[in-house]
Amino acid sequence: EDDAALLDGLYGDEGEEGPLQLDPVLAIIGRPNVGKSTLVNRILGRREAVVEDVPGVTRDRVMYSARWNGKNFTLVDTGGWEHDAKGIHARVAEQAEMAVELADAVLFVVDSAVGATATDEGVMKMLRKSKKPVILVANKVDDFAQEADSAALWGLGFGEPYPVSALHGRGVADLLDKVIDTLPEFSQVESVDRSGGPRRIALIGRPNVGKSSLLNKLAGSERVVVDNLAGTTRDPVDEFIELGDRTWRFVDTAGIRRRQHMAQGADFYASLRTQAALEKAEVAVVLLAVDEVLSEQDVRILQLAIESGRALVLAFNKWDLLDDERRRYLEREIEQDLAHVEWAPRVNISAKTGWHKDRLVPALDKALESWDRRIPTGRLNAFLGELVAAHPHPVRGGKQPRILFGTQASSRPPKFVLFTTGFLDPGYRRFITRRLRETFGFEGTPIEVSMRVRE
Ligand code: GDP
Ligand code: GDP
Repeated sequence: EDDAALLDGLYGDEGEEGPLQLDPVLAIIGRPNVGKSTLVNRILGRREAVVEDVPGVTRDRVMYSARWNGKNFTLVDTGGWEHDAKGIHARVAEQAEMAVELADAVLFVVDSAVGATATDEGVMKMLRKSKKPVILVANKVDDFAQEADSAALWGLGFGEPYPVSALHGRGVADLLDKVIDTLPEFSQVESVDRSGGPRRIALIGRPNVGKSSLLNKLAGSERVVVDNLAGTTRDPVDEFIELGDRTWRFVDTAGIRRRQHMAQGADFYASLRTQAALEKAEVAVVLLAVDEVLSEQDVRILQLAIESGRALVLAFNKWDLLDDERRRYLEREIEQDLAHVEWAPRVNISAKTGWHKDRLVPALDKALESWDRRIPTGRLNAFLGELVAAHPHPVRGGKQPRILFGTQASSRPPKFVLFTTGFLDPGYRRFITRRLRETFGFEGTPIEVSMRVRE
C-alpha cells in the first residue's frame, strides 16, 4: 500500500477538475508539394504517418500529437488532401483557413526554390487577418548553397524565414525550438471548463449517416438552426440540448450544420472537425447507418474515437430502413468489424422518425459512469490476487513474471498500472484486461493496462 500511495502521488488526479487544458495547436499550411507532409513526418519522427503517395487514398487523420524538448503540442496537417483537385487556389486557401482557425500558431511552408506564388498570396492575406503568429518555413533547402534562395522570402513580411530540409532534417531542430517558443503553454483557442457544467458529446460519423438529422430531432426542431450570430466571423460551435431533463453540450455542431456549404475540401473539413470535436468531448456518439454496408470510413472514424480515449456509444441510425435480409448482414458485420468495440453500448435509432431517441441518454450515462470510475486500490488488488492465483503467468525460460500489485493511475478513461517482476506476455495482458472488464464492467469506456517492471 505504501507503493500504491506513492503511485497516487506520482499520477495524482490531474485533469479531473478545473479547466481542460488542451495542448497548443500548430497548423502546417502551404501549397501542394512544398513538403508539408514530409515535414510532419519529420516532426513526428516516424515514416508511416503521413506521406502516402497513393492517389485516391482517403485519409482521416488531420491532427497528430507531437513532442519537442519535453513539450507537447498538436499538429494540424493540411498536406496530402485532394492534390489532384481543380480550383487549387481556392482549396488551399480554404483548408488553410480552417486549420488556422483552430491553431495557436502557424507554420507557413514555402518551397524555397520556387518562392511565393499566386496561390500563396491569398493564404498570406488570410494569415495576416487571422493575427495568429506565423513562422515562415523555406523548405527544400537541402544544403548551404540553397540558403540564399530562402533569404528572398524575407520580403513576404512574416519575418525571418527558417531554411529547412524536411527531407533530410536540416534546420528542423532550430525550427522546432522556435515553434516551442512561439506556442503558448496550453491552447488559447479552445479551453473547456470541465468542472461541472453540461457533459460534452461529440456526435461523429461519415457524411450522410444522419448527424444533422439526429441533432435536429434531439433539439426538437426540423429546421436547421440559423446562425443567430450572423455577422460574426466565428461560428457558435457548440449547441446545448435538453435530453432526459438534463442539458448536454454537443460540441462542434457548427461543423455538422455547416457541412452543406462546404462542397470543397469536404473530406478534410469533416476529419478536422471529427478530431477537434473528440478533443473537446467527454463522450463520443459514433453514428452508423444500417441501410448501407459498414464502410472503411465508418471503421476509421470509430478508430479515431477509440484512440481519443473518450467514452463511446454506438448509435445505429436509419433503423426504419432495415429489412430482414439486411438485418442478417448487419449482425454479421457487427460480429466481424465491431468485435473490438463490443464494450461500447449500442442503441438502434431513427433520426428521421425519432424512434428510440430516448435510448441515447441511458447509454451516455452508462458510458460516462464507466469513464469516470475509479476502482479502489484494495479492491483491485484483491481481484488481481485471485486472478493470478487461479491463472498464473506461464513460465518463460525458467522465469515466471509476477504481478506485485496494481493501481488505477487515473480515470477518464481508466488507466491501470501493474507492477511486475518481468515483462508480461501480450496475451496475458489481454487476458487481464478482459477479466478487468468482466469483473468491473467498464461498459462504454476504453481502458488501458500498462506495466512497470521492477528489475
Ligand atoms: P505536401 O503536398 O506539401 O504535403 O508535400 P510532400 O511532403 O508530399 O512533398 C512533395 C515532394 O517534395 C515529395 O516528393 C518530397 O519528397 C519532396 N520534398 C519534401 N521536402 C523536401 C526537402 O526538404 N528537400 C527536397 N529536395 N525535397 C523535398
Ligand atoms: P449527415 O451528413 O450525417 O449530417 O446526415 P444528414 O442528417 O444530412 O442525413 C443524410 C440523409 O439521410 C438525409 O437525406 C436524411 O433525411 C436521411 N436520414 C437521416 N436519418 C435517417 C433515418 O433515421 N431514416 C431515414 N430513412 N433517413 C434518414
